[in-house]
Amino acid sequence: MSGTEVETRPSAIAGQGLFARRDFADGERLAPYRGPLSPTPPPRPESGEVFALEVAEGLWLDGSGADNPARWANHSCEPNAELVWHGPAEGAWLTSLRPLRAGEEITFDYGFSLAESLFHPCACRTPSCVGRIIAEPLRPALRRHLRFSRPRD
Ligand SMILES: [Zn+2]
Repeated sequence: MSGTEVETRPSAIAGQGLFARRDFADGERLAPYRGPLSPTPPPRPESGEVFALEVAEGLWLDGSGADNPARWANHSCEPNAELVWHGPAEGAWLTSLRPLRAGEEITFDYGFSLAESLFHPCACRTPSCVGRIIAEPLRPALRRHLRFSRPRD
């Protein structure tokens, strides 16, 4: 179904990225974000990346599986998609926040906390990039923190 509508390939933002293979309308489902659900965050692996998302209060989705190409979607400070939780039957879907053109990279707001953001630089290169992966509502707090602390990297 959605397998041919998006694809993964190297991204200018980081590593692999998720890309639209056709034009999408505003508010359209782009790709499912698949994985097992659990009431606690999945354990952090010894190596590699974490693809755990809190899709609802106290409900975690582990998107690390190979059957979840949407895990390669990068964060952006000006995302063109969002992750929408539709309940256990339909699961989570990356959904467009505006019309997308074929070939565009699909990005969403990872929603990281201030503490998480300090270890996750952002390279999305959008005009409003704050240089860290952090939830949009927390960006003013991050700017204050960076102003009053020494650079970390
Ligand atoms: Zn950014």
